Amino acid sequence: MKRKVLLIYTGGTIGMEKDYDTGSLRAFDFSNIFEKMPEMNLIECEISVQPFKKPLDSSDMGPKEWKKIAKYIAKNYDSYDGFLILHGTDTMSYTASALSFMLKNLRKPVILTGSQLPIGDLRTDAKENLLTSLYYASLYENDEAVIQEVTIYFEYKLLRGNRTLKYSAEYFDAYQSPNYPILGQSGVHLNIEKDFLWRTRSDADFYMDDHISQEVLFWRIFPGMHLEHFAEIPKMKVLILQVFGSGTIFNTPKTQQTLQMLRDRGTEIVVVSQCVSGGISFGKYTNSNIFSKIGAISGYDMTAESAITKAMHVLENPNYTGSFADNFARNLCGEVTVS
Ligand code: ASP
Repeated sequence: MKRKVLLIYTGGTIGMEKDYDTGSLRAFDFSNIFEKMPEMNLIECEISVQPFKKPLDSSDMGPKEWKKIAKYIAKNYDSYDGFLILHGTDTMSYTASALSFMLKNLRKPVILTGSQLPIGDLRTDAKENLLTSLYYASLYENDEAVIQEVTIYFEYKLLRGNRTLKYSAEYFDAYQSPNYPILGQSGVHLNIEKDFLWRTRSDADFYMDDHISQEVLFWRIFPGMHLEHFAEIPKMKVLILQVFGSGTIFNTPKTQQTLQMLRDRGTEIVVVSQCVSGGISFGKYTNSNIFSKIGAISGYDMTAESAITKAMHVLENPNYTGSFADNFARNLCGEVTVS
């Protein structure tokens, strides 16, 4: 049986071609993708293309576009077996993370991919990324989708979307998932690590919750930083602090006063690490005790992208009961390792 895949084209380098006369990149009409890439006709699935009217550089993508994609998927959920989103690489991890929180009880594959070189470039990585993503998006066994979560496929690796970060602007191998194993690898065979795949624990049906608040701020601390400046930002509902190592910060009276002042003002403080691998462990060093004292929330081993979009989704979400802290601490869809 031929599986049906909805391909949503949002923009990014993947949909560009090089003008060899001028040397510059220009977007091509994506509805002609089957002519540009006749290989797509050979794949054992039926593909429908839904392009954004105006292709976007992914630095222009945000909550509005995340909601738009989530709505496309929700609207077409019953009519398609899988969803493939072509996206610029710069903010793909943010979109993948946001979608993972918005698409509840997903039982079909949602794959994001893009490329470092345009599809029309001789040395492009776009074709392999696109073709193999289509395979993963239409992979079923015993009438059940093998992948039932939001993933990124890039340069032979299938990764959990909300565990990824873009770490290279140069190499084809642009994404990492430092705190969660690779879900699948494409070599001679398309390999899947079934033990690592996410399965929703709920019996409930799929639905979309596209709540996103923008009252979230992210700050990376650095030696010598004046934390007191935070007092000048009045409307901060959530502050995500990216701190040192396993959760340390300069242990001064001013740090204590400022963070306590923020908490007294009602600001939720989430702590994530500047280290790409590993995570937060409150209480390991004296210089992390302040966080437990003021009731800060540990982001454990979440990526910054995931912590930010999770906070945006959970904050003042009318569909969640309980406190922000309790909801943030829960493992919603495999974004955090909680023991
Ligand atoms: N600036 C581009 C984007 O993120 C880069 C890319 O697609 O690789 O849209």
